[in-house]
Amino acid sequence: KERFLASLRDLDDSVPPSKRVADRHAAVPAATSGHFTNSPDTDPAVAVNRDRMRAILARVPSSQLGTDILRISEKSALDELLGKAAAASWGAADRRAVLHRIGDALESNRDVLLEVMAAEAGKTIDQADPEVSEAIDFAHYYAELAAAEIDGATPVPARVTLVTPPWNFPVAIPAGSMLAALAAGSAVVIKPAGPAERCGTVLTGIVRDALAAAGADPALVTLLQVDEGTLGRELVAHPLVDRVILTGAYETAELFRSFRPDLPLLAETSGKNAIIVTPSADLDLAVKDVVASAFGHAGQKCSAASLVVLVGSVARSQRFRTQLLDAVSSLEVGWPWEMTTQVGPLVEPAAGKLLDGLTTLGDGESWLLQPRRLDENGQLWSPGIRDGVRRGSAYHRTEYFGPILGIMTADTLDEAIDLVNEVDFGLTSGLHSLDAAEVRTWLDRVQAGNLYVNRGITGAIVRRQPFGGWKRSAVGPGTKAGGPNYLIGLSGWAAGTSSA
Ligand code: GLU
Repeated sequence: KERFLASLRDLDDSVPPSKRVADRHAAVPAATSGHFTNSPDTDPAVAVNRDRMRAILARVPSSQLGTDILRISEKSALDELLGKAAAASWGAADRRAVLHRIGDALESNRDVLLEVMAAEAGKTIDQADPEVSEAIDFAHYYAELAAAEIDGATPVPARVTLVTPPWNFPVAIPAGSMLAALAAGSAVVIKPAGPAERCGTVLTGIVRDALAAAGADPALVTLLQVDEGTLGRELVAHPLVDRVILTGAYETAELFRSFRPDLPLLAETSGKNAIIVTPSADLDLAVKDVVASAFGHAGQKCSAASLVVLVGSVARSQRFRTQLLDAVSSLEVGWPWEMTTQVGPLVEPAAGKLLDGLTTLGDGESWLLQPRRLDENGQLWSPGIRDGVRRGSAYHRTEYFGPILGIMTADTLDEAIDLVNEVDFGLTSGLHSLDAAEVRTWLDRVQAGNLYVNRGITGAIVRRQPFGGWKRSAVGPGTKAGGPNYLIGLSGWAAGTSSA
């Protein structure tokens, strides 16, 4: 163990620079170190916290939070709102102090955010609570980055940044995107994903109140909902929009580019992520991490594990499969307001590609555990595991975004890495191995933005694991959210000084 740990200490130096942070921009500003710590999640071991959680969950079924969403249906109303946003200014307000204040406001409103996330977006408390922590982290972290950059190279402000976040992280991702834009000196217009608009409304309300309380112009942040079919294109291509931060499907990024080919677009897009397990691995730990990465938030994460690749004797023996089956069968599936739920609902009833993934096997595949639909509507599914996924098959290459995991096998680590690299995406990737030489080989060869050894592959922590991908998992300047170069990438690129 000591030898292994010692060899890991050298690993960072042996990682090729292009993979170390995927950020290929400037170094970390010195002033950012020492001023930031990650905010803690709620500790359920403390009795008073459990009482708080119970009170929140009791409110969820009848919660009305965030229903006062602003809907725009006329082009003229859109022009007017964007005009107001473009005219908003930071004045003399100090961005660093304001962002810290927003972080504090998010912490004071933790319970409200948990309530709306469970009520609207199906998030269980154990998934929602770290998400609030992440949003708070973005505020305090970008505050320090902004301060460091104001001392050094002043970022070039864009007038308006359009933020189009996804529904699967309905607080952390909109918060991260809008706070980065604010930190870089921009005003923000945010259009939440349909299934997460109430979360966006509550979040934006907290941010606007904090802006006002700090003496800044609340019009710096405007949330609106538009019908994607009629006003979506007008919004994205609007001349008052200077750049877009998108998190969503790769196809959406392509659609945005088709609306406006020269659009400065920073997009975090799809993933098809795998964890490799070698014979040297701690199999108990590997099972735990695979289960959490595949089925947390019912697999509705870009970062989720969709494949596990078993190598050599792990593939040939039944031990890993048996433990995995045991663990996954024990998961409680249910609604988010039940304290015992471990796998919550799909945000929208399974349809299309995902329904196929949950019901139809490919050639040579068999169910290690067949998913079952548990409600009328098709939102509650027990998790599924398919064995025998073949190289190049639909399951091997497609993102599903639901509670489904596939098993592939390989004779060697190199062959396993080939399987991982053959997909179009490169967001997260995992290796379970206690052999330092294997870790080196994998780090040298695997194509993904976030690489995790002997850990789950979801839940990147601000500053510790800056988040962003390669290949079809990213479009734009390629800087990572929650990392030291995000604001520099955002500002430099808006000013036309950097390219993908
Ligand atoms: N940042 C999240 C994580 O590390 C994933 C974000 C996403 O699914 O888009 O799990």
